[in-house]
Amino acid sequence: MSRPVAAEPKPGKKLSLTLLLMALVTLVFLLTTTILLIGSYQSKKKSLIETTLNLNYANAARMSKTVDSLFRSMRSSLLFSADQIANLRDVSPDSIDAYLDLTRNSSNYFNSIILVNANGTVLNNSPAELGMVGRQITSLQVKEALRQKNSYLSSPYIASSTGRMLFFMSEPLYNKDGHYLGQLGGTVYLEDYNILNMIFGNNVIDESGSYYYIVSAEGHLLYHPETGRLNEDVSANEVVRNLRAGLSGRMEAVNTKGISMLAGYSAVPSNGWGVVVVSPAHNIQEQLMVHLRKIVAYTIIPFVVLLFCVFVLAHRLAKPFVVLADLVHRIGKEKLELPELKPHWNREVDLLTTAVVLAWKDIQEQTDQLTQDAMTDLLTGLTNRRSLDISISQSIAARVPFSVIVLDVDKFKFVNDTYGHLAGDEVLRQVAGILAESIRPGDICARYGGEEFVLLLPRTKPEQAYTVAERIRKTLEATEVPLPMKVTSSQGIAHYPTHGRTREELLGRADEALYTAKQSGRNRTVIYSE
Ligand code: GH3
Ligand code: MG
Ligand code: MG
Repeated sequence: MSRPVAAEPKPGKKLSLTLLLMALVTLVFLLTTTILLIGSYQSKKKSLIETTLNLNYANAARMSKTVDSLFRSMRSSLLFSADQIANLRDVSPDSIDAYLDLTRNSSNYFNSIILVNANGTVLNNSPAELGMVGRQITSLQVKEALRQKNSYLSSPYIASSTGRMLFFMSEPLYNKDGHYLGQLGGTVYLEDYNILNMIFGNNVIDESGSYYYIVSAEGHLLYHPETGRLNEDVSANEVVRNLRAGLSGRMEAVNTKGISMLAGYSAVPSNGWGVVVVSPAHNIQEQLMVHLRKIVAYTIIPFVVLLFCVFVLAHRLAKPFVVLADLVHRIGKEKLELPELKPHWNREVDLLTTAVVLAWKDIQEQTDQLTQDAMTDLLTGLTNRRSLDISISQSIAARVPFSVIVLDVDKFKFVNDTYGHLAGDEVLRQVAGILAESIRPGDICARYGGEEFVLLLPRTKPEQAYTVAERIRKTLEATEVPLPMKVTSSQGIAHYPTHGRTREELLGRADEALYTAKQSGRNRTVIYSE
């Protein structure tokens, strides 16, 4: 019947503890960082959008307030001048020209100012280079102002006479009697240096690409960083739609070019215009990427430190396992000294080490015991035959001269037959005791079989061995045994290398000497001789 055999571990790629822990830590780090990055990305994005929208709205509100006051000032300047002119005593064209020049240059509100009578004929203009005096007005906007006979503000348009893009605002002239005299109008040339770009500068809010624009009540661009787009109808834009409805606020909107923008917008109450401050949404994206890169940069150093610590820790944790595995692997295969195993800070490793050490000691003791048993005679506790044979062979191999004494109890069969086996055994133990006490350290005393004993006496001449054998013989003879008879023994002695060069030869020669002793009447010692 075949026994199931325990599967041998395949020598393949196994995951080491160090690698496992490092992989685990890396995984945890990556997951944590990803969650951190996503969370941070979301909240940062929200706050950036919120901040940008608020900032743009605050800017738009501030600018719209400025535009509102500006517009009111422009309006009151025209109104005041119109009133003055309507009631002038000296109505000579030169004095009116001078007055218009003064008005225009003192405030810079308007690029040009014209005075038109009720029939639409230009009476005065400033600057004089305009050269419109005496001409009949053709512009629809001015005609509309004359028709309304009231305060008027045009949408941006292109003047047919000059080809300039402008907007026009005017105030009516009434004399003391309430008679309508005409309109005093101011124009702002949108593409030239004008009051708007004089106040708001080069249109750059900050370096992030934010900018602003102003739309008229009809949704036309009055002001825009791209001058080519001035007067463009942008009323379709969601932000402009809100402005035209008189609303102010902030929103994320797609502009006419399809770019997502974060806009703050504010209506100008006095004229229906609107100011819009926008920032491209992709700016936020760039800022977010910078933010995320910073987070990654900050986390990477602790991660590397952590990974290193894990590596060291895992290495220290794994090392004792390797040492213990190696130790267990060698147990029983070779005789080894137990290496010094220090207590480990890890509980499991410590437990395992203690267990292995105990097992190792147990096995060692058992092995020692078995070895001892294999070399000892059970009955007498002396060295047994196998062990003695080994010792003799070793002495021969080392060429150490020695003597062997073969001792045989006389008439032992009689002891056994007469007093029983147990009594025989007791006699054998007593003989063994005498032998053990009679030898010097370095000598070996063995029970060779039955009632036969052998003594190995290194560096001992046959004559010296003879003395030893005789002393033993006499001791035994004089010893009280628990039998109603005396126990004696016969000895045969052989010497290495004098009497033989092999173990068999030597023991044979000693046996021959013993035989001679038996033949000669027992209870004596004989040295082998040819
Ligand atoms: P001789 O003087 O010629 O040596 O005679 P002997 O009787 O001693 O020799 P023999 O070889 O005839 O007998 C040896 C006896 O020793 C036989 C056996 O019963 C006995 N014997 C051998 N081993 C043991 C043992 O372990 N215990 C006991 N009690 N007797 C043993
Ligand atoms: Mg015998
Ligand atoms: Mg005998």
